Amino acid sequence: MTRRATTTVMVGAVPVGSRWPVVVQSMTNTDTADPDATALQVASLAHAGSELVRVTVNTEAAAAAVPEMVRKVRGLGIGVPIVGDFHYNGHQLLVEYPEMARTLDKYRINPGNVGAREHHDERFATIVRVAIENDRPVRIGVNWGSLDQALLTELMDANAGRAAPASARDVMIEAMVESALRSAELAEATGLAHDRIILSAKVSGVSDLVDVYRRLAARCDYPLHLGLTEAGMGTRGIVASSAALAILLHEGIGDTIRVSITPEPGGDRAEEVRVAQQVLQSLGMRQFLPQVSACPGCGRTTSTFFQQLAQEVQGYLAESMPAWRERYPGVEGLRVAVMGCVVNGPGESKHADVGISLPGTFEEPVAPVYVDGRLATTLRGDGLVEEFKGILEGYVERRYGRREEPVPAR
Ligand code: SF4
Repeated sequence: MTRRATTTVMVGAVPVGSRWPVVVQSMTNTDTADPDATALQVASLAHAGSELVRVTVNTEAAAAAVPEMVRKVRGLGIGVPIVGDFHYNGHQLLVEYPEMARTLDKYRINPGNVGAREHHDERFATIVRVAIENDRPVRIGVNWGSLDQALLTELMDANAGRAAPASARDVMIEAMVESALRSAELAEATGLAHDRIILSAKVSGVSDLVDVYRRLAARCDYPLHLGLTEAGMGTRGIVASSAALAILLHEGIGDTIRVSITPEPGGDRAEEVRVAQQVLQSLGMRQFLPQVSACPGCGRTTSTFFQQLAQEVQGYLAESMPAWRERYPGVEGLRVAVMGCVVNGPGESKHADVGISLPGTFEEPVAPVYVDGRLATTLRGDGLVEEFKGILEGYVERRYGRREEPVPAR
């Protein structure tokens, strides 16, 4: 897979474009007018690995609270770029709250929500001028739920006059692409540099998203932000987002991604960050966490011990990673296997850096452990889980520990 060539856009200190790794981003769901709650959620998303975090700026109270919220985030030692999401009143808020405009690292404009045709271009240009004054990039974020209706009507009318009209779906897709490209043209005509623009055009259907982005990628070199909008909850949202993003990323399309899943009530917002990371890691594009290969289990594993071990190992790796990342550069690439019986256990374990193959039903109650493809030891009994964690820790230390610089001879 070769990524489509796109321009590099700096968002704070984070480069976005095809020369750089695909950037993971996320969005808060707290009330931005509450600087404490929003700062804590930005921190939590950044801690989970979000490399850009977007906050809605929808009211005067939210705009007024942004500088304090950003100060709190920076006070926690977190430098993640913070992006403002504007709809309807962005042209007013960005002008009336200049400190807010200065504090944010990027502005997202939805060209479908800037105002009716007679106000549209002037309001859009007002936001762009604030971006130019503050040397900030913008994302022109088209969304089919708020598609520029005047543009859609214009394209529908033109289509109706054709000898062989395209389908309504096709016209809608074209309207999304046109909205993004015409807005980018207007932004550049207003004076915004080409390398200060990122585009997105989100829809909620996987096939529609793929078609929109393929067209967009073929017609411009702006970095593209990918995401399936309104993906939904739980498994549905995760699978739909992963399917859509995987197709496009595999074709080299997309420079930054967000997974827009609806959290369970009281659920962890950072789940969307972990899913985005897994999408990139599964495609072999980036590495964030050691991978645990675990077999699904079957009738040969009648106890739950195998699932518990797989879960404990996964949890242990996730908990250890913040410290390991500092101490052991490259540890993200570690591969661990936890297998349920002798059928595929030893084979899969040998492919991993460290693997354990538990005994299945009626097998001898011992668990061979493989390190770098060789049988290293055999575990048994109650202490098996802790012993396996110890083997992992030792392996990580040996393989990824920083070597002391030799003291030069005098
Ligand atoms: S490795 Fe063994 S326990 Fe796991 S799925 Fe295969 S046969 Fe079943």
